[in-house]
Amino acid sequence: MTTEVQADGRNLPPLPTPFEWDQGFWDAAKAHKLVVQRCSDCKKVRHFPRLMCPDCRSMEFEWVETIGRGRIYAWSTLYKAFHPGFTDLPMTVLIVALDDYPQVHLVGRLMNENVTEADLAVDKPVEVVFNDVTQEITLPEFRLVEA
Ligand SMILES: [Zn+2]
Repeated sequence: MTTEVQADGRNLPPLPTPFEWDQGFWDAAKAHKLVVQRCSDCKKVRHFPRLMCPDCRSMEFEWVETIGRGRIYAWSTLYKAFHPGFTDLPMTVLIVALDDYPQVHLVGRLMNENVTEADLAVDKPVEVVFNDVTQEITLPEFRLVEA
């Protein structure tokens, strides 16, 4: 794994390399929209994006925009940097169940400042925020919101 360096000299975290089956997700994120993949045949919504529907094996898919809100399903807080691109520690990574597609779970970093694990709980509401990491890649992340 190589480590990219930003213009200000800081190391970048590992970034995705979009493929044909997830390019739509990254294009939408860059436009500050959160989308998930939907099978064009059986209409089941899924995430992470993949080429083939795990339910009906269709290779046809489309993108549907979500409302960008969800609830904490689980989280993990990192206190030690295991990659030079992760220097703002501690860092909490959430698994979020989307409000409009609760069976769909996304992983993203918790972006609130001054939040500790004591502030977190399963089912706490969050909303997506878009982290423009480079000119090419925007990562959907999350922040706590009032219920
Ligand atoms: Zn399907």
